[in-house]
Amino acid sequence: MTEITGKFREALGEENVLLDEPMGKHTTFRIGGNADIFVTPQGIEGVCRAVRLAEESGLPYYFIGNGSNLLVRDKGFRGIIIQIYKGLSYINAEDNIIRAGAGALLSSVAKKALDCSLTGMECLSGIPGTVGGAVCMNAGAYGGEIKDIFVSAKVLVNGNVETIDNASSQFGYRTSSIMREGMTVLEAVFELEKGNYEDIKAKMAELAQQRNSKQPVELPSAGSTFKRPEGYFAGKLIDDSGLRGYSVGQAQVSPKHCGFVVNNGGATAGEVIELIDHVRKTVYDKFGVMLEPEVRIIGE
Ligand SMILES: Cc1cc2nc3c(=O)[nH]c(=O)nc-3n(C[C@H](O)[C@H](O)[C@H](O)COP(=O)(O)OP(=O)(O)OC[C@H]3O[C@@H](n4cnc5c(N)ncnc54)[C@H](O)[C@@H]3O)c2cc1C
Repeated sequence: MTEITGKFREALGEENVLLDEPMGKHTTFRIGGNADIFVTPQGIEGVCRAVRLAEESGLPYYFIGNGSNLLVRDKGFRGIIIQIYKGLSYINAEDNIIRAGAGALLSSVAKKALDCSLTGMECLSGIPGTVGGAVCMNAGAYGGEIKDIFVSAKVLVNGNVETIDNASSQFGYRTSSIMREGMTVLEAVFELEKGNYEDIKAKMAELAQQRNSKQPVELPSAGSTFKRPEGYFAGKLIDDSGLRGYSVGQAQVSPKHCGFVVNNGGATAGEVIELIDHVRKTVYDKFGVMLEPEVRIIGE
């Protein structure tokens, strides 16, 4: 382990390699055991170097962005977490095209779109993820999805940097070939339309207000815990199963929005997982619908 750590430090810089890093510091759930090695590569070249070293080490490795759709188990992650975030967060706009590093926050990209009077990102502006996480998950809200504005992405695949376009990304509901084939997003290009600054600003404010009033944004969570089952809404099924406010320890089905599991302070991943299992079983017994988690669960 010391040898691997040394190699990472040499390649990425001392300050970009942490050992035994608590993952609760890097997930919006504020939950998670320690990662053995946690690296924050800078720039596209940094990410490529980190992946090369991770491959060479033979240890398991996993990418994260802002950790807003992630639950890390209590015993942590044995291996390397590669966080693509602040070190790859440039955002450039030219005419109606925005090119952003995978680590840029979607909210910052939306702000750039607003500043340039570009419309098309309003519905995505409140999603607290990075471009990389959002592209890979085909994040969406209020009737819009990443795939609607996505032109192409620079991805790392089998050690090579390639460009993947919209059709080849095979976007589906919270999925893409980028995710299924384990590609790493380095940069994405979005196409927007010229719009009116005041209209775009008003739409973003309206949707933010809607989000704040309906979702438990004041508590740590990973957003919607479950995918939307075809023909139903997860939150309604959970509510109709009598689980509004149901708790396991400090993990709770949000009384404000049943589709969210929240951390009321000091919840463990074990409690969240027990709660998820209980919700799935109860909803299945009552309605015959098996809810599938949207949140990604990693670690041991
Ligand atoms: C309060 C709240 C509200 C939310 N609302 C919404 C919503 O309205 N709509 C919605 O879709 N989601 C929502 N989410 C969930 C989450 O914000 C999105 O799924 C987001 O796209 C995840 O981005 P991230 O950077 O945080 O990814 P992470 O959680 O860090 O990772 C998620 C997945 O993406 C992968 N990944 C991350 N970066 C990369 C990369 N560069 N290359 C390849 N793979 C990568 C990870 O390996 C992982 O599998 C919400 C979350 C919260 C906490």
